[in-house]
Amino acid sequence: MRTGRHYIDSLNDGRRVFIDGERVANVAAHPAFEGIARTVGSLYDYAADPANGMIFHSPHTDGEANKVFMIPRSAAELQERRQAIARWANLTKGWVGRSPDHVGGFMAGFASSPGTFDKPDREHGRNVTAFYQKLLEESLYVSYVIIPPQIDRATTAHAWKEELLQVGVLEEREGGFVVRGSQMLGTSTSVSDYLFVSCIKPLAPADERYALSFVLPVNTHGLKIYCRRPYAPGQPSQFDYPLSTRFDESDALIVFDDVFVPWENTFVYRDVEKLRNQFFDTAAHLLGNHQSQVRLIAKMKFIAGVARKIAQVNGIDVIPSVQEKLGEMASLAAIVEGMVIAAEAACSIDKHGVAKPNARFMYGSMGLQAEIYPRAISILRELAGGGVIQLPSSYKELTNPETRPDFERYLQSPRAPYDERIKLFKLAWDMIGSEFAGRHTQYEMFYAGAPFISRGYAYRNYGYDEAVGSVDEFLASYGLPGPAAKTDK
Ligand SMILES: Cc1cc2nc3c(=O)[nH]c(=O)nc-3n(C[C@H](O)[C@H](O)[C@H](O)COP(=O)(O)OP(=O)(O)OC[C@H]3O[C@@H](n4cnc5c(N)ncnc54)[C@H](O)[C@@H]3O)c2cc1C
Repeated sequence: MRTGRHYIDSLNDGRRVFIDGERVANVAAHPAFEGIARTVGSLYDYAADPANGMIFHSPHTDGEANKVFMIPRSAAELQERRQAIARWANLTKGWVGRSPDHVGGFMAGFASSPGTFDKPDREHGRNVTAFYQKLLEESLYVSYVIIPPQIDRATTAHAWKEELLQVGVLEEREGGFVVRGSQMLGTSTSVSDYLFVSCIKPLAPADERYALSFVLPVNTHGLKIYCRRPYAPGQPSQFDYPLSTRFDESDALIVFDDVFVPWENTFVYRDVEKLRNQFFDTAAHLLGNHQSQVRLIAKMKFIAGVARKIAQVNGIDVIPSVQEKLGEMASLAAIVEGMVIAAEAACSIDKHGVAKPNARFMYGSMGLQAEIYPRAISILRELAGGGVIQLPSSYKELTNPETRPDFERYLQSPRAPYDERIKLFKLAWDMIGSEFAGRHTQYEMFYAGAPFISRGYAYRNYGYDEAVGSVDEFLASYGLPGPAAKTDK
């Protein structure tokens, strides 16, 4: 099993990551990425220790692999997979969205149905299988970009003023093809091993040259990673910004500057229909999002825990209206957890033999996420009040003998020593008010598509026939009273 050391050393591979107009020499040693690289390294170390129960024997490789990458074949295996994902999520308290298990879930879904990728003239299914085996054997960290750059959402790429703004085929060459263009928004691409490139937004038939699906090593020639402003550099300490300093995954616009894609790395080539089928005719979308929801359970519990602790430290937890707010927070956290448990309990075995989480519950929860998450953050914000602002500018005020006594005296609480109180409120600020916190609200609202997209999944997968059937049955149980009813019939 892969170790953290192996992962961190592998990052120094010539990848083209840009920050502040400069190319980063080695991401693992750069202040923007060293925190998240160390965190991901610790996930690998944890998984490699047999005592942590994350190793299974994979029938695909006939060897040991990480359970988070498993194709679940029964309800029991789906639960086992969830427990492994939850163990990782608990290590980061859910604040790392795109750990290796996220896209790993998509790859497992793809590999469960290689036939989905085959055409009479192109047997891409074997590329999918081979890549999944590699992922299992090497515990690969794959990130993805499956959304076109915004440019113009009223149309799709073929109708844009310039061609190849979205990544698309420039030309075919011996052994593969060359792509040019861009795609958003590569979370963790800067610190991953491979990038999966595709498009989940529906494309028109005229968009064929953009209907692609392939994987590339992140250091592939011509692949450029333009990261947004990082949140870890410049922070005084982990004590001051405990989340920003360790869990900033980075998000990036990915530019493909005439990148060669070998056929063996290709899953879908110029095929609008297969592009869509890969996500929704296989278990991929459900398995990937099952991981996201399991991760969100850990985060919601953590937010609820911080809210409860703040209420206790400030002595407001005895007030009935505060308890009501904590009750609402508890409901929000329980809904996310309950929906995952329901999705597993009501799972079904699909035509490829995969235990698929129940779509009604999986997408039901996702459809509400753009309300649930900001609401939880808003409750935490309300309970914290100005406590998250009346804090020392950094830990240095607490180590300076001239300033410390003032904080000891004026930030004390009868229920917690002053330094523990400051630590708790600084954590809360990194959850609700820092730039890292703001990005997380955007992330939870958008990572699975804009809210109208997530609600579209909920709408299509609820099973409205059952609901409408129930109403029809009820309406049929009575009619117009008296003779009018007979006349109508
Ligand atoms: C922090 C973060 C990390 C991300 N990480 C990744 C990643 O790792 N990989 C990846 O592939 N993507 C990632 N994404 C991108 C994410 O998938 C997209 O943000 C998401 O799909 C929404 O697309 P968009 O941002 O272009 O929004 P748009 O599609 O432009 O929508 C923005 C808003 O416009 C309105 N709107 C647009 N179209 C319509 C319509 N047809 N009907 C009604 N209203 C409409 C809605 O109000 C919508 O909320 C990430 C996003 C964020 C914020």
